[in-house]
Amino acid sequence: MQLRKELSHPIFQKISKLADELNLETYIIGGYVRDIFLERPSKDIDIVVVGDGIKLAKHVAKELGSKKVSIFKNFGTAMVKYKNIEIEFVGSRKESYSRDSRNPVVESGSLKDDQLRRDFTINALAIGMNSSNFGELLDPFNGIVDLHAKLITTPTDPKITFSDDPLRMLRAIRFATQLDFRISDETFEAISLNAHRIEIISKERINDELDKIILSKKPSVGFKLLDKSGLLKLIFPELHRLKGRESVNGISHKDNFFHTIEVLDRLCPHSDDLWLRWSALFHDIAKPKTKRFVKGAGWTFHAHNFIGEKMVPAIFKRMKLPLNEKMKFVQKMVLLHMRPIVLAEEVVTDSAVRRLLFDAGDDIDSLMTLCEADITSKNQQKVEKFMNNFQLVRQKLKEVEEKDNIRNFQPPVDGELIIKTFDLKPSKVIGDLKAAIKEAILDGEIENDFDQAYAFMIKKAKEFGLEPIDETK
Ligand code: ATP
Repeated sequence: MQLRKELSHPIFQKISKLADELNLETYIIGGYVRDIFLERPSKDIDIVVVGDGIKLAKHVAKELGSKKVSIFKNFGTAMVKYKNIEIEFVGSRKESYSRDSRNPVVESGSLKDDQLRRDFTINALAIGMNSSNFGELLDPFNGIVDLHAKLITTPTDPKITFSDDPLRMLRAIRFATQLDFRISDETFEAISLNAHRIEIISKERINDELDKIILSKKPSVGFKLLDKSGLLKLIFPELHRLKGRESVNGISHKDNFFHTIEVLDRLCPHSDDLWLRWSALFHDIAKPKTKRFVKGAGWTFHAHNFIGEKMVPAIFKRMKLPLNEKMKFVQKMVLLHMRPIVLAEEVVTDSAVRRLLFDAGDDIDSLMTLCEADITSKNQQKVEKFMNNFQLVRQKLKEVEEKDNIRNFQPPVDGELIIKTFDLKPSKVIGDLKAAIKEAILDGEIENDFDQAYAFMIKKAKEFGLEPIDETK
């Protein structure tokens, strides 16, 4: 197969010319070639050189006038940045692995050796760059057949591939999810067999793959595969624990794992925010812990939002997810995820909306989006009712925000003014007064403005036996 047209970018002409001049056998390889066939835009180009990849990189950088060439001598690789394109150069290699590390012993090898060490046949495609074979596809493992069949399969025995580098198991599942491909039976069996080997992979690399699954169009595909292969139980046991339905007296609850990944799928068309998507995965995380069967009431998961919020930090810590404002955001979503739905079940009052706005602040839109995705009932009438009520809640949120400006609530009367007005020493009563003013605003008793808050403070302070000092004396 000839791919000259796809290589019309001047960069490829320049690399080709230099490769000939330096007498270096050179190929484009891996994801870039795969993505040509999948018509996915790609900005990372991997170049493999049978020989000194760094030498070619230096010449290419000079030719392109690129000042950005990073050389990693230990790995025999070099990266050249040109505009927004990253070109990585590496010498072709052969790899052999030891049992306890995913870092192989590396020696130089032929192009075919290099293709053999690639994870999947669709990632082992190469295109010739020298004038003698410019644009010629080299596909020794039938990657093109697999691309057409939408199949993830390995160039070599998958049992060995995954044991050598267990990260490839997650990559297989990630590619299947991103590309909507099927993992071949033999390959999937080998993943299930090697799942326990994931223990040698760093949490950071696992998270990179999880993020990519979560950011795909339909993440549930990946989570089902993670579950089926036995990987989920090992990397995210709390999510795995949501699986299953229990039955008492013929009454069963829904399977919270399948519900959770359905919520995540439903969220995707409405938000690309990675952390809102993680929040969807966590929103019911405390359901197994809080599950009770109550006679007359059926299954309850009382306070699962509160307990869930408390569970988040320990899970984030173990999984090495960021312990920063991203985690706080997920906690907030977990804690508040019941609020809009409770609101939507009742008459939507201004004060309830104001309180919700106060608690959610700037994250109110994210929260509403999550809650709408959380309606997964099979009963269409019920779904419609909730969606209509949510519309109403959204409308009310807008009105209340316009009127009262609660979203980024700053108390109109601060502690300092309270101290000055009543000549107080720092004491509990200051906090009590502040809280009373806030409550009055949230209840709609007074508006969120200085004059009303000041008058309210004077009135309330009287109840505490306080009079303002007379400054004229
Ligand atoms: P994406 O950019 O979507 O992550 P990609 O295939 O380009 O896809 P990279 O991680 O950039 O992914 O890898 C580039 C190429 O290197 C792959 O196409 C594959 O040939 C090879 N590769 C990457 N990781 C591995 C691995 N763990 N084992 C074997 N080959 C790998």
